[in-house]
Amino acid sequence: MARITKLEDIVSLCKRRGFIFQSSEIYGGLASCYDYGPLGVELKNNVKKAWWNSVVQMRDDVVGLDCSILMHPLVWKASGHVDKFADLIAECKKCNARTRVDHLAEHAEEHTEHISIDAAMAKEHDLSNKVCPNCGAVGGFTEPMPFKLMFETQMGANVDDSMTMHLRPETAQGIFANFRNVLDTTRVKIPFGIAQIGKSFRNEVTTKAFIFRTREFEQAELEFFCEPGTDEKWFEHWKKTRFDWYVELGIKKENLRMRDHAGDELAHYAKSCVDVEYKFPLGSGDWQELEGIANRTDFDLRQHQRGIRTLNKWFENNRLMDKIELAAEAEDYESGPLSYFDDEQKKRYIPYVIEPSAGIDRSALAFLVDAYDEEEVRGEKRNLLRFHHALAPIKVGVFPLVKREGMPEIAKNIYNDLKRHFNCFYDEKGAVGRRYRRQDEAGTPFCITVDGQTKEDNTVTVRDRDSMEQVRVATDQLRSHLQERLDM
Ligand code: ATP
Repeated sequence: MARITKLEDIVSLCKRRGFIFQSSEIYGGLASCYDYGPLGVELKNNVKKAWWNSVVQMRDDVVGLDCSILMHPLVWKASGHVDKFADLIAECKKCNARTRVDHLAEHAEEHTEHISIDAAMAKEHDLSNKVCPNCGAVGGFTEPMPFKLMFETQMGANVDDSMTMHLRPETAQGIFANFRNVLDTTRVKIPFGIAQIGKSFRNEVTTKAFIFRTREFEQAELEFFCEPGTDEKWFEHWKKTRFDWYVELGIKKENLRMRDHAGDELAHYAKSCVDVEYKFPLGSGDWQELEGIANRTDFDLRQHQRGIRTLNKWFENNRLMDKIELAAEAEDYESGPLSYFDDEQKKRYIPYVIEPSAGIDRSALAFLVDAYDEEEVRGEKRNLLRFHHALAPIKVGVFPLVKREGMPEIAKNIYNDLKRHFNCFYDEKGAVGRRYRRQDEAGTPFCITVDGQTKEDNTVTVRDRDSMEQVRVATDQLRSHLQERLDM
């Protein structure tokens, strides 16, 4: 029978083994901020590597970028974030807790701590039958009000030249702002994509659920530019490609699905959008968004053409954003500075954009949940993470069976040789069985043990995490043996 993993099991393992800690824990912690520990940083780097490998390195039609977090204030005016990036919230009159309106559950529904986030986005505002997730009161809410999600900060030391800036709430706008630079400096031709991985910040109303929803998080985004009219074909291409990526990295198919956005749920810029959803063990065990794939049309590039036209007005108004409106679109916008000239077809147009936007932290959580397993071995519980080899933080554990008879020296030599090729871990403390268990729990695919026989015939045992089977391998064959089994 399939065992249901609980979020508490994951949180506890992450803390116990140094995957993830609460931020500023020695000061009592900072809500919704997390730090990745020694194993966690390796896992997260491997998730990013796997994404970059699939989306950039293995393709001939995608290039990478790494933009700054702070951008010109007009970027966020043009993108629509200054005016539109807000959640509708309501305050409970009884306990004063503020909740996103689209996160409120109906009284009749099963009430759990983490309410489905695919509940319709605040289209209907009748809250008379909604339950406060904090105190359980029904229907005692204020009128819904918008709550801005972008973090504000100041740039510059002097009052005169300081500006109110925003921490980016998505990485995508850095890509649009560099579209021209990439066109002018590389040989890319449409269709092509620009990819970026980086931190984003949103002052989320409700967080909880560990690293699922935090105020600082990492995104992996691709903006794939194509000719209008070919956008639906590319949308289908990226839906399949991104879904398959999770499956190839070991996520069980039954825990993954695609969900089309309903018309009234679509963002203002999107022609169509699907979410890749994972069955997270959050409260009700609901399906939750892992990645959004959107057809953003030519919206962003056109908006930035308007943004550029607004620059003069912005200077004239002492760089105060509240006083200015975004300039109207030029009549000849299709030949504007962010247009593309197709020299085979001899025509100019503003490209359409397909955007797969994934959360690195959310993916890491999904990989942890999906890999987590408990089983009974000879009357004892064994905890393990059945990570795909590419994601495992440590690839190989190296042990001497005992700390004498020259075994540690041989094991150290093997470790020093292998660590040039894989992330390895050397351990000589305690009983070997316990060392295996520690590596099982860290998700390490293979453990090598130097034993009494090693001195006689130069072989060691290689133990497989999942089957616990051991094979003897000659020390001079170890590297190629592991390379083959790890597929590296
Ligand atoms: P939600 O509806 O959950 O608030 P969203 O639809 O606003 O998410 P997008 O803007 O589509 O999210 O962001 C793309 C991806 O970035 C999401 O699928 C998710 O993986 C990740 N992401 C967004 N917000 C957060 C957050 N607060 N914490 C962690 N990851 C996030």
